[in-house]
Amino acid sequence: MIDVAEALLRIQRAAVVVQPRRVRIEDAVGLRLQEDVISDTDSPPWHRSMMDGFAVISKDFVHSSDCKQAVTLKVVAKVGAGETTAIVLKRDQCVRIMTGAPMPAGADAVIPIERAVSGTSHAQAGEQVSVQDPHFRCGQHVSEKGSFFRAGQTVIHHGVELELVHVGLAAEVGASHVVAIAPPRVSIITTGNELVPSSQVPAGGQIRNTNGPMLSAAVVSCGAEPIPMGIASDHPEPLRALIAQGLAADILLLSGGVSTGDYDLVPKTLENLGVECVFHKVCLKPGKPIWFGVLQRPAASPTLVFGLPGNPVSTLVCFELFVRPALEKISGKSLVPKDRDQQTARLTNSVQGSLDRPVYHPCQLEVGKSGLLAKTLPWGGSADLLALSLANGLLVVPKECGGFVQGEVVQVIPLVSRFRDKSE
Ligand code: AMP
Ligand code: MG
Repeated sequence: MIDVAEALLRIQRAAVVVQPRRVRIEDAVGLRLQEDVISDTDSPPWHRSMMDGFAVISKDFVHSSDCKQAVTLKVVAKVGAGETTAIVLKRDQCVRIMTGAPMPAGADAVIPIERAVSGTSHAQAGEQVSVQDPHFRCGQHVSEKGSFFRAGQTVIHHGVELELVHVGLAAEVGASHVVAIAPPRVSIITTGNELVPSSQVPAGGQIRNTNGPMLSAAVVSCGAEPIPMGIASDHPEPLRALIAQGLAADILLLSGGVSTGDYDLVPKTLENLGVECVFHKVCLKPGKPIWFGVLQRPAASPTLVFGLPGNPVSTLVCFELFVRPALEKISGKSLVPKDRDQQTARLTNSVQGSLDRPVYHPCQLEVGKSGLLAKTLPWGGSADLLALSLANGLLVVPKECGGFVQGEVVQVIPLVSRFRDKSE
């Protein structure tokens, strides 16, 4: 049986950084863009009215005594946002127009509705409107076609960390998806005929699914995207079907079914689906039955598969020891303190070991005057989550060492999410 260090080495060798992938723009905020987003349109796409009012020809205004006098025009059509008109405007004509509507051909300015002389502002096609606009400027209230950017122009550049505004910009130019470095996707399958969702009251022989929600949360805590796939029964066909789906992710986490019982079908099922076993069983307590393998994928990085032992403390300890470093490697994010496996503390009580395996014992860590202090907690073993909930670290008692007494210096692993060094 391999030891923890060898298992970690093999995981490191198998794990490669995930490739960029297409993501919905709604999900892309905070991600780094891996392509240029190029516009398929001019913006604005046509000369656009910025006011509700009347589309006019500026020349009709330049001689009206500096626009001090009212100008009377014939309304020849009406155009709203989302509409177009085939009308070509002639002198002394105007088109009743709404904000966001395309300017009719021939028109080059808009007189706001408020500038209509009272009583004429309701004029429709065929009627006359009188307008008076003392501050009239040629081209006013028109946003020119392509004045923001042109079709073919790069509007978001490769390498940008996407923000809310880029989502809108991408939507404007028709990019519903973008290629970005996205968080790894992690499928989660819990196995066991005895499991019911944690919202249910278990019947005889049943227990609640502890590991499903816990693993989802653990994945989120690593900045990755969990894909909870529910509970698989210990029957070959449904198990195989669910695992086959789960293998599409960057990592597949399974809990339960990896030991040597009659219903422990996970290793065989994985191997039948082409997942190559890298190791099965690691010399540690809790977590010995852990299974790890790799599925090569033609056009993507390999799927890493962890078969975690079903007992919840084993599941979480194996997640911290093995899955977190794998996520660190494939996401390129720092998730594990660099010196994690070199930390020591002075023991303030005594602890027993195990002859055949190193024990990762829940402990409380605190910062003392001359370094870390560790105290082990009463612990009922691999199903005793309450003890783990009171711990902020694991104390490693090496194989065959028998144990430690008060005052000895021991190896400890602070639990990333629980241990905060208050002196920092
Ligand atoms: P297994 O690894 O399938 O042999 O399961 C070992 C122990 O963990 C058994 O007592 C299971 O009932 C328990 N177990 C397995 N999966 C879960 C789970 N998702 N939540 C809580 N306990 C579990
Ligand atoms: Mg089981």
